[in-house]
Amino acid sequence: MGYILEVNNLEKHYGDFVAVNKMNMSIDQGEIFALLGHNGAGKSTLIKMILGLVNPTSGEILIDGLQYGPKSKEIKNLIGYLPERMNFYDNLSAWETLTFYAKLKGVSANRCKEALEQVGLAEVKDRRVGAFSKGMQQRLGLAQAIIHRPKLLVLDEPTTGLDPVGILELKEMIRTWNREGTTIFFSSHNLADVQELAENMAIMNKGSVVAEGSLAKLKHDYKLKTRIEVKVSRDQIAKISRQQQGANYMGQFEFQDNTMSCYCESQEKMAILQSLLHEGVEIEDFSVEEPGLDLVYQQVMKQYTLL
Ligand code: ATP
Repeated sequence: MGYILEVNNLEKHYGDFVAVNKMNMSIDQGEIFALLGHNGAGKSTLIKMILGLVNPTSGEILIDGLQYGPKSKEIKNLIGYLPERMNFYDNLSAWETLTFYAKLKGVSANRCKEALEQVGLAEVKDRRVGAFSKGMQQRLGLAQAIIHRPKLLVLDEPTTGLDPVGILELKEMIRTWNREGTTIFFSSHNLADVQELAENMAIMNKGSVVAEGSLAKLKHDYKLKTRIEVKVSRDQIAKISRQQQGANYMGQFEFQDNTMSCYCESQEKMAILQSLLHEGVEIEDFSVEEPGLDLVYQQVMKQYTLL
């Protein structure tokens, strides 16, 4: 399928300050991709360059194989963008606002109806935008971003400021557009949202990508293991820890009170449980703790702030 976005050796300097530094990144057609990084890491600068709003100092950006310059208009039709904050005219209705964007993007007014339906604003289309809640304004922002059916939807911190229901609904919309073929590229500080939505991600630090890939790949790269905890009766634990240390997998466990625990590869956990049952261990309870993106992010940042 190829890449919808390719960034090669991209740099942005503001005077002596290097905001984006020899950056490389690629996004496959049709995926949901997240961009993570501390404040000031360079995420917004990168997004502005992808949108053609800021010129790179050097390097290359390819959108669906096209480069800014003579192809700028074509590229802008391929991208839909939701900024972190959108400012609308308070006195216009949602309908008037969206038809304004439709004209700008050369789209027929019929698409406004569909877009408002998709973001759940059809029933309030004649209300003044000034009276809209933050969540409703965000929906209107999404409607203008998708009105021209972009191939690549860029969302800058889309869940910021939304209530929990608003966040759930936004995630559902993102998944629906993605199922319909739109590639999604979003930046976020919310690791739980990224873990839930993104198939692949890039973590930025000081203007460069310092880690990239799926959560499974990053967990593997940073050697993060799955923790298994098994509770057995007090009578049994003494017997197991005394007699079965040499048995399959048993040597990996640590024993405390009536709990035994070990770290393993995620794909080993069922084999370990089966082996315990095979050894005759009577399990009273067990839990499995998979390392999440929060742990990956901590490890990545620890590595790069120590340098
Ligand atoms: P946040 O998560 O806070 O939005 P970010 O990762 O988006 O941060 P950027 O806004 O891209 O970070 O900023 C990267 C660095 O570049 C920051 O140190 C910022 O001060 C600097 N910077 C951004 N725009 C300019 C500019 N126009 N002139 C000078 N420096 C700038």
